[in-house]
Amino acid sequence: MTTKKSSDGFPDVRLRRLRRTQAIRDLFQETRLSPSNLIAPLFVQEGLKKAQAIASMPDIRRLPLAGLAKEVEELSDLGIKSIILFGLPKEKDGKGSSAFDEKGIVQKSVDEVRKHFGDKVAVITDVCLCQYTSHGHCGIVSGNKIDNDKSIDALARVAVSQARAGSDIVAPSAMMDGQVQSIRKALDDAGFSETAIMSYSSKQASPLFAPFRDAAHSTPEFGDRRSYQMPYANSREAMREIEQDISEGADAIIIKPAIPNLDLLYQAKKATNLPICAYSVSGEYALIKAASMEGWVDENAVMTEFLTAIKRAGADMIITYQAKKMAELL
Ligand SMILES: [Zn+2]
Repeated sequence: MTTKKSSDGFPDVRLRRLRRTQAIRDLFQETRLSPSNLIAPLFVQEGLKKAQAIASMPDIRRLPLAGLAKEVEELSDLGIKSIILFGLPKEKDGKGSSAFDEKGIVQKSVDEVRKHFGDKVAVITDVCLCQYTSHGHCGIVSGNKIDNDKSIDALARVAVSQARAGSDIVAPSAMMDGQVQSIRKALDDAGFSETAIMSYSSKQASPLFAPFRDAAHSTPEFGDRRSYQMPYANSREAMREIEQDISEGADAIIIKPAIPNLDLLYQAKKATNLPICAYSVSGEYALIKAASMEGWVDENAVMTEFLTAIKRAGADMIITYQAKKMAELL
């Protein structure tokens, strides 16, 4: 008996042939995660005696400076060679002075990692003011507005102090216009022409940042961040932000959050040859965690699916709170 052929090639074409066994599926897998392009975010809190749990981010802890090297060692043993540092200072003021203090918590943390690991770990530092300002905004406040041009001067100062401490890559996240150019110039003027800039080019005003603000004590005291962070409804505007950062001298770009922005990752991949990093944010972590704690989803399976999808969409690297857990599975 002969089966009638349809116009789409069936039965000659049988896509299931390449899915028959696990070995065959592994052979034909197009997208693979690797610990070497996962970046672990770490919170280091000044004056902390021992690691502190974060209520809205189960399994993630604020670390004392003295606990940082051990954490980085565990990551590095799992093959994760990149970290991004967030500091929680003791003192905050209107200008975020502790963000550019040579003895600030991030500067000391970079130094600590360098001391223990030399160049074996790529250290990325977040450049922003929100964890360091009494008002919790990402820039300098004048009246009830965020003053863009004063803010980029302050951000440049922060970036230089981090580079001086030994940061490999500074990551400006304040979404101020001209921040990349201002930082590039300040770094070059201070002799840090080798320090790279990975810019948060498209960072949206997202409700998914809520657990991070709890973790990093950075909730704004008044208003919100919508006058500087991107509206999530706009993709052309996101591409303009990316183009702008590239023209100002960014070495790599970040898109954040990740899962709601797979289309932007894909568009950015087509539009630029710069490395693209996706930041899978605290809320994405919390959603998976909460559902898995209820027994509604399998945490490892969902984490693997989400991270693979982020990479498939165009991310070369991923900042994720699940870095350690994922690397344990790989
Ligand atoms: Zn900020």
